[in-house]
Amino acid sequence: AWIDMLMPYCEHPEQFTSDQMVWYDEAMVVVRDKFPKAQAHFLVMPRRPIDGLTSLTQKDVPTLEALINCGGSTVDKMKAENPHLEFRMGFHAIPSMRQLHMHVISQDFVGIGLKRKEHYNSFTTRFFNDASEVLARLRAGKSLQYDKREYDHFLKGPLRCHLCNEAPATMPALKAHLDKHARKMRVIIC
Ligand code: 5GP
Repeated sequence: AWIDMLMPYCEHPEQFTSDQMVWYDEAMVVVRDKFPKAQAHFLVMPRRPIDGLTSLTQKDVPTLEALINCGGSTVDKMKAENPHLEFRMGFHAIPSMRQLHMHVISQDFVGIGLKRKEHYNSFTTRFFNDASEVLARLRAGKSLQYDKREYDHFLKGPLRCHLCNEAPATMPALKAHLDKHARKMRVIIC
């Protein structure tokens, strides 16, 4: 099923090309997002099946720490190539894919996969949960349950530039606006 399309990367990382599979070991994989929402957009996943944040408990703290370490190395590698890129690492409150995946995404949002308002809002509102916060909550034994109705609301909110607070009326206007920021930040636009 479509919801399980991230599992093959975890089960058979050796079967993917190096432009799909960035890095893997016995426990983790780093893959390129197939529909990138920014210049650099990766998914970091544990290889054993884990059904999202909601299934994590305090005993999974080391797993989350390992994901964060792995994401950090990915960021370091990307910044060595393009020091102007800024990154966030985190999780969508309500993911669309089942296997636990941490997004590592550059903050330009100039990506061919960024098409719908929900795509942008999912990374720039509280729908996006920074990995460090998620880890702190898990360590404190707090819940990682996100109410679907509450969080879907963030996706439907107005477009607002995450860098300057401008409010473009449409996605084409937002994309033109983000291109301008990217040029100023000297992000390489492919
Ligand atoms: P979510 O909203 O569940 O946090 O994000 C799922 C991510 O997986 C999206 O950014 C989407 O573009 C990406 N994605 C969906 N299907 C595939 C796939 O088959 N391969 C890869 N590499 N990424 C995928």
